[in-house]
Amino acid sequence: MRLVAVAVPVPFLDLLTYNVPDSLAMPPIGARVRVPVGARTLTGCVVRHDALVEDGTEVKDIAEALDREPLLPSSIVELCRWVAEYYVAGIGDALAVAMPPGARRQGSAFRKQRIAALSAMGLDQGLTPRQGAAVQILSAAPAGLPTAELRERGVTPAVLAGLVKRGLVVMRDERDERDPFERAAMTDVVPDANRELTDEQERAAGELFALADAAQFRVALLHGVTGSGKTEIYLRLADRVRRSGRQVLLMVPEIALTPSMTALVRGAFGDRVGIQHSALSIGERHDQWHRIRRGEVDLVIGTRSAVFAPLDRLGLIVVDEEHDSSYKQEETPRYHGRDVAIMRASREHALVVLGSATPSMESFHNAATGKYVRITLERRVLDRPLAAVRVVNMRTEYADEGPEIVISRDLAAAIGERLACGDQALVLLNRRGYSTAVFCRQCGDTFECPNCSVSLTVHRARHGVHGSREPSRGGWRARCHYCNYSVLVPTACRKCAAPYLEHAGFGTERIEEQLRERFPQARIGRVDRDSVRRKGALTQMLSKFAARELDVLVGTQMIAKGHDFPGVTLVGVISADVGLGLADFRASERSFQLLTQVAGRAGRGERTGEAIVQTLYPDHYSIQLACRQDYPAFFEREVVYRRGMRYPPFLALINGIVRGRTFDDAMHEAREIVRRLEPATATGRFTVLGPAPAPLGRLRGEHRVQFFLKGTRRSDMRNALMQVVADMPEIRRRLTIDVDPLSVL
Ligand code: ADP
Ligand code: ZN
Repeated sequence: MRLVAVAVPVPFLDLLTYNVPDSLAMPPIGARVRVPVGARTLTGCVVRHDALVEDGTEVKDIAEALDREPLLPSSIVELCRWVAEYYVAGIGDALAVAMPPGARRQGSAFRKQRIAALSAMGLDQGLTPRQGAAVQILSAAPAGLPTAELRERGVTPAVLAGLVKRGLVVMRDERDERDPFERAAMTDVVPDANRELTDEQERAAGELFALADAAQFRVALLHGVTGSGKTEIYLRLADRVRRSGRQVLLMVPEIALTPSMTALVRGAFGDRVGIQHSALSIGERHDQWHRIRRGEVDLVIGTRSAVFAPLDRLGLIVVDEEHDSSYKQEETPRYHGRDVAIMRASREHALVVLGSATPSMESFHNAATGKYVRITLERRVLDRPLAAVRVVNMRTEYADEGPEIVISRDLAAAIGERLACGDQALVLLNRRGYSTAVFCRQCGDTFECPNCSVSLTVHRARHGVHGSREPSRGGWRARCHYCNYSVLVPTACRKCAAPYLEHAGFGTERIEEQLRERFPQARIGRVDRDSVRRKGALTQMLSKFAARELDVLVGTQMIAKGHDFPGVTLVGVISADVGLGLADFRASERSFQLLTQVAGRAGRGERTGEAIVQTLYPDHYSIQLACRQDYPAFFEREVVYRRGMRYPPFLALINGIVRGRTFDDAMHEAREIVRRLEPATATGRFTVLGPAPAPLGRLRGEHRVQFFLKGTRRSDMRNALMQVVADMPEIRRRLTIDVDPLSVL
């Protein structure tokens, strides 16, 4: 018999063993095969050739071999095996992340899009306000605009239909050639190859060049304050690696948030660039993946899943903003893109560069203990000063101005000044929606999610015409941010019928509304997950802001990430306290990172910048130190707490969550798991904490109970867990295992 081990796309399933019948050539590792699984035939991937079976076991034949050459390089198959083991996931789940999308589907090369344009004739008399707004938008675009874009700007299909009927607007279809870069490359950044590096950049680049030239596995942490010119260093390093005949992988947190990076890379590498991220269409991803696989690129830029890009001459992996939580996948396999990158580089003898102004505690600790090479950029390029940060104590503000105040006097004044002189401002609030709750003044009734243990966030039910100054009309919708349950908020209380429903708390929508009321002449945009739902909407909004078509941009942490908007001289933080009170050991770290990063968006152009941070806890160390942008002091302070509490980076954590129909079911099973784990803790190398109700006790209708494994060696903890899971196979469907969890809520 010729046996092969095959991974199939069935959750939690281990490798299956099949026989290769004599009629078929031996499929190589990484090739796809069709195999019988139960009553079905599935497409799987050959993972090993040395499969063994016990005597007497019946082994089925492979039904069909799909590839003569491996679809996945064997290095990627091996990497996926490591991911499956490290993150206690099924090998099929891990391989699914690395496979090209729609491995069985061909994408079509063209998409059609509808374009609406003003017709040459027609009288715009007696238009509704919405039609008028639409005409105004279209009159600025002689070639017309795609309907999808119009919709984004508040022009609904119904409004367009009305205008077409009046003969004011004509529609046409256009073929949209598939160019995934088009949407990203809209900024006017021009890479300047002849630009002189600053002394600091020169020194950092020199050290990195030496590491790259050695062509060995190393990890370097490039810790550079915001605006210190890290991107320039990445590009030069990438160029050097390319010249030596090896390839580069450049990982970024979210492609749409780093359009200038994509444009720069494209400028420097031209066609020899591949792009990989989930916002591409299936067809685009498919094209890109195969270009990379065929070796047609020297550099891949992408988000976390790009860590599996099928490059076979890898010399360098750059993980930009390495501290960013979007590198962690919050579904199975729960891998961390940065950590997989390091593992991949170690197998392929490549250099890893982790870049950040606010490194994760883990990475900085590794640099401090000498495991990583540390390279520091302490100054901004051209010695531009860091933004001066002012803290506004909101307690004083409430005392003086009443409890309703959201935008402090100082912040309002500062925004007014920027508007007057034509500068731009960013306003951050890391909480979307209009308000955090509605309640009845008379009986106190509130809106809670029926499926999850959270209260519903209130949103505007309908949006007004985007860019118009009229406040939007329509009612309120209360929505669960976990399960998406939503309900229209009635005008009177459901319980007592009193008409006194009141909003409590505030989110980005409310900030936008208040700013519009206060500064009616300002052009204001908003960026959060609600406002950028449509594909391309985020890029569009950011490019409008970059082109100075907007004065103020309100948003969640999305606006805090690596942008370079030279016109921004003011950053306002509405509440530095969102997230601080959470029972999560990373709360201070996250809040320090967010504040430092957002303050770093100010003053990147020629004019100096200022940040104003509103808080109820002006003395909290993560707020104080973020205001001084003093990372080393923050690390020193935080590390004492982590060591004392025995948290990462000093110990490793594994989080287990058991879901059940009732709380008792979940608790009962979690207790059983913990009981079975106990004997393995006798070595003293790890402990088990819990079980206890999870902080989010109910989610999507299921009850949740959690436990933790905490120890110095992950392998011991993993082995113990895998043994328990093997003994209780049914539990896999109700147990989520998160190795190195980023969030423990
Ligand atoms: P970081 O990623 O470290 O926050 P960037 O790479 O975005 O910083 O650089 C900040 C700004 O400085 C960018 O506008 C960039 O074009 C500019 N810049 C970088 N290096 C130089 C240099 N050597 N001379 C002049 N400007 C530079
Ligand atoms: Zn819910």
